[in-house]
Amino acid sequence: MKYVSTRGMQDLGSFSDVLLSGLAPDGGLAMPQRIPTFTPAQIGGWRGLCYADLAFEVMRPFISDIPEDDLRRLLRATYTEAAFHSEAITPLTPLGEAGPDGGGLFLLELSNGPSLAFKDMAMQFLGHVFEYVLEARDERLNILGATSGDTGSAAEYAMLGKARVNVFMLSPHGRMSAFQQAQMFSLHDDNIFNIALQGVFDDCQDLVKAVNADAEFKARHDIGAVNSINWARVLAQAVYYFRAYLTLNLPEGAEADFSVPSGNFGNVFAGYLARSMGLPVGQLIVATNENDVLNDFFTGGVYHVRPAKQVAMTSSPSMDIGKASNFERYLYLITGSDAPQTHGWWQDVGEGRPVDLRGTAHWDAV
Ligand SMILES: *Cc1c(COP(=O)(O)O)cnc(C)c1O
Repeated sequence: MKYVSTRGMQDLGSFSDVLLSGLAPDGGLAMPQRIPTFTPAQIGGWRGLCYADLAFEVMRPFISDIPEDDLRRLLRATYTEAAFHSEAITPLTPLGEAGPDGGGLFLLELSNGPSLAFKDMAMQFLGHVFEYVLEARDERLNILGATSGDTGSAAEYAMLGKARVNVFMLSPHGRMSAFQQAQMFSLHDDNIFNIALQGVFDDCQDLVKAVNADAEFKARHDIGAVNSINWARVLAQAVYYFRAYLTLNLPEGAEADFSVPSGNFGNVFAGYLARSMGLPVGQLIVATNENDVLNDFFTGGVYHVRPAKQVAMTSSPSMDIGKASNFERYLYLITGSDAPQTHGWWQDVGEGRPVDLRGTAHWDAV
């Protein structure tokens, strides 16, 4: 499987290349050349698999450059009961009584991993696959990131003790929750570097962006990223939609809806990806807090990003996002992989102009 950019660049290489490279050179995000699909019968046949082997079936068509035995081994090393404190990995708990049609409300538990953030679901895999790919290529990686909490902890727990990887994580001094601060700052491994900055999250983010804009410096110091635009994270997150669906044990082809708390649009986009692969997903409900740019789009058809100054600070900082990076991938898919259209829209977004889909064929595809 080859990867392309949402902004038109054709050959970004295969899975391991986009795993290590972050943004595409044209500024777009990596997408597979096509989305492989599975039949309902194929999906149904995975019902008895353990989480790791299900992940193998879902991810394999996207990863043509890691031998299958190695990929299966990496996934089995990632999704263990020891790491996720549960044999099911992502337990599905009924909330209340089942409805008259056998339906009901369920809670998909994604936060039983080492840092107790759902980001562990993908980040733990990243830790294992980074180590594998870097070893194979005899390369090293210095991960530079900015965090307001969840991403930093999940990344550090995933990379802890991994060979060939260092983590340099910038965080705003005194502005993280006491719990997350304790989680991160109590890790004293040789490859983990916590750097607290006098400032706010955006100051940390700006430094990371400045480093990323300096291609020569980046290359010289093997600098990479683990933010939610990393394709491997999105792909690994698609797996638990399959897992939840199969656990529900519905009749073949029956649909399940998912409601997903959203910030950078990574998690819910993974659900959209699962649906694009043939999983019978009905509604994907994009849940937001008062920073409801995405809600405005899905209810009104206009995507208008909010400048950082207008983003409210809430008790859920991971959802306090005015411009959702992964939304670019969604626009790309609803246009039928029209990179020039996506590029044009994202330029508008970058310059503060709204993207208005009302009355277009694209809105019908939403
Ligand atoms: C990261 C995070 C989100 C946002 O997820 P996205 O994939 O960025 O949409 C929401 N809630 C919590 C607790 C998170 O850690």
